[in-house]
Amino acid sequence: MDAAGLRCLPFVPILIPITRGEASATNYERKNPTFDTPFYPEKAHNSSLLQNPAGKSPEERRNLGVPMLQKVHFRPVRPLLTRAMSSQLSPVRVAIVGSGPAGFYTAKYLLDKDADVHVDILEKMPVPYGLVRYGVAPDHPEVKSVQETFAKVASNPRFRFFGNVELEAEEDEATSGSDWTKSRDDNGDSQVPEDNPPKANLITINELKAHYKGGVVLACGAENDRKLGLKHEDDLQEVLSARSFVNWYNGHPDFKWVGDKIDLSAVKDVVIIGQGNVAIDCARILTKSVSDLAQTDLADYALEALKKSNVKRVQVVGRRGAAQASFTIKEVRELTRLEGVTVSIEANELARGMNAASEEEAASSRGGARIMELMKSITQETSERGGVHAAEKDIAIRFLLQPDALLVDEQPLQVKIPVPLAIGKKLDLEVTPLEGSSVGAKAFELKREKTLKGISMARTVLSGEKGRQRAVASEGKEVDVLPAQLVLKSVGYKSVRLKGVPFDANRHVVPHLKGRVLEDDVALEKVDEDLSKKDGGMRQLSQTLRGLLGEEASNTAAREDIPADAPAGKGATERGPEGGGESAPLYVVGWLKRGPSGTIASSVTDAKETAASILADISEMDGGSEADPATRILALRGSTVMDWQRVKQIDSYEVAMGKRSSPPRPRVKLSDIAEMIGLKRALREQAQARKGKAASASTTE
Ligand SMILES: Cc1cc2nc3c(=O)[nH]c(=O)nc-3n(C[C@H](O)[C@H](O)[C@H](O)COP(=O)(O)OP(=O)(O)OC[C@H]3O[C@@H](n4cnc5c(N)ncnc54)[C@H](O)[C@@H]3O)c2cc1C
Repeated sequence: MDAAGLRCLPFVPILIPITRGEASATNYERKNPTFDTPFYPEKAHNSSLLQNPAGKSPEERRNLGVPMLQKVHFRPVRPLLTRAMSSQLSPVRVAIVGSGPAGFYTAKYLLDKDADVHVDILEKMPVPYGLVRYGVAPDHPEVKSVQETFAKVASNPRFRFFGNVELEAEEDEATSGSDWTKSRDDNGDSQVPEDNPPKANLITINELKAHYKGGVVLACGAENDRKLGLKHEDDLQEVLSARSFVNWYNGHPDFKWVGDKIDLSAVKDVVIIGQGNVAIDCARILTKSVSDLAQTDLADYALEALKKSNVKRVQVVGRRGAAQASFTIKEVRELTRLEGVTVSIEANELARGMNAASEEEAASSRGGARIMELMKSITQETSERGGVHAAEKDIAIRFLLQPDALLVDEQPLQVKIPVPLAIGKKLDLEVTPLEGSSVGAKAFELKREKTLKGISMARTVLSGEKGRQRAVASEGKEVDVLPAQLVLKSVGYKSVRLKGVPFDANRHVVPHLKGRVLEDDVALEKVDEDLSKKDGGMRQLSQTLRGLLGEEASNTAAREDIPADAPAGKGATERGPEGGGESAPLYVVGWLKRGPSGTIASSVTDAKETAASILADISEMDGGSEADPATRILALRGSTVMDWQRVKQIDSYEVAMGKRSSPPRPRVKLSDIAEMIGLKRALREQAQARKGKAASASTTE
């Protein structure tokens, strides 16, 4: 019987022991209660596991019949037989693009649950962990310790890391976001310094789909910003996305420019638009004592800038009321404990948002009730204090205010041009460029100076039923002017559209069902199969999705979003992405799948769902992937590819630098791509120089 014949057999859940595999996930989970609690992960792994102890690659060991691991693993018989009967016995390889929590948890579940699956993670940065490294606040090291869990995943011999490899995004979607416009001059030319990081190795979705038979998982997070839609938003350098600011203080190599644009010594008032935990992180970092921050892994340059900071007042502003704010109690309480910082809430603003619907909303959960209590006590303290204490920094939480206009101080720049009249005499000629006179401006390199003075906010009221209240303009259209020399927009991250990948342009996510990207009939067939086991309502959903994806209506919004050169429909799948073999299925996980909200812990359930879909599909596959797709794809690219060995080298170096710092720090981050890529060579040269010195010293003796 051939493999296809076997596929037709009814599924018989006979369990047989396989001595070659890892412990089943269930056993593993039972033994490791930390499996689902990423904030308190297992102890640091034995790093020697990273190296194959026998000095052979997993494939070589497999060929020699050396058992990979000794634990007994139970698996249903059908997947094993299907693959065993196939003509190719090479392993099934899955590519995961993105090495944040979603990518790493997906890798973990795939590796844990199927001893034959191999995983390659491809990451555009030279180092892994996404927002765990570049988002999570430096003064929250307990959250960052999830990296130890991920390093353990990487120690699996069936795992490989390929850093400095970027999956192609749509051209109009600069991955660094809208703030990049600020690094362009009036002619649109880039002002990014010449020594800007070398480009990562660029790969396309079709290359991955052609070579990774086990599937391609998109775990690229959300690397762009939502906008306020205000005039001057893009041309004032004092208006930044919170994402840029967070990336800057966390040492992201692409965001060093923030330090050139913002001089914190000239900033007294900051307005942060948005009331989530990212806004609270920014407020805390801007006001926390520098001696405390000096003990974290905050970027060195950010620490220097914060030492000079004159920030006194930070206002964290929301359109709606206290009951609708999305920050959590732990984060707000942390603000109230900052040394030398007061937190204020105005009593009338709190009260105006607490209509009957808001009271019900707050009371509907224990968390909601507790945070309301905290906000009431802050309000009480604010009134007792009778205003902001001059000696303290203050964080004001403001409600029912909607951004209306950025207030700009626009100075026509006047220059004095010395005109020699006669020997020893000259006339100072004052030139003021005319409105719109670009010729004059260019000739003398003149620009109109724009500086941010503040932001005017329209007062709002709540409207709508409980759980769905919206902010609408107040009757009198009152406006409140908040002074600001820096505005941070913390109104949400959004995902970047990847070339050749379906995209929901309204929600900024990749459309999927249980993690399977809805890209063509194959995904839909799978969906149908799953849903046929469920009730009719779900089947109806599948039909709707079919309609949306253009089976009948090819001009729907969803179909419009699929680029013309993307493989579409069954034909493309059969043809294969490069006119060759079959194209692998696409999956999605993390913020690119769910949208940009939720914690690292949310990635756990999310990754389990996507991994389950992949494993179910793999169990029906015959044959494996080619031996080493990533190396083959990357062979033609010019830039260095970072493997896990290099990642470990950077990690050890950063940690060692941190230990040597005074005061000691968890690590001193490398924040320059060239430095990261060049570290291996730099360390080798250093070692050689030391050896040479030692040798010449001994000859002299
Ligand atoms: C400022 C901030 C603070 C946070 N603090 C906390 C916290 O304290 N606790 C908590 O639990 N959660 C926190 N979160 C939420 C948490 O970080 C996210 O839930 C989680 O990181 C989402 O995981 P992800 O893998 O989907 O995305 P990410 O972590 O963003 O990972 C995406 C990865 O994909 C890579 N990538 C992107 N595009 C490409 C491409 N084209 N090619 C190759 N690679 C690509 C990126 O470089 C990145 O490494 C915070 C989030 C933010 C923004």
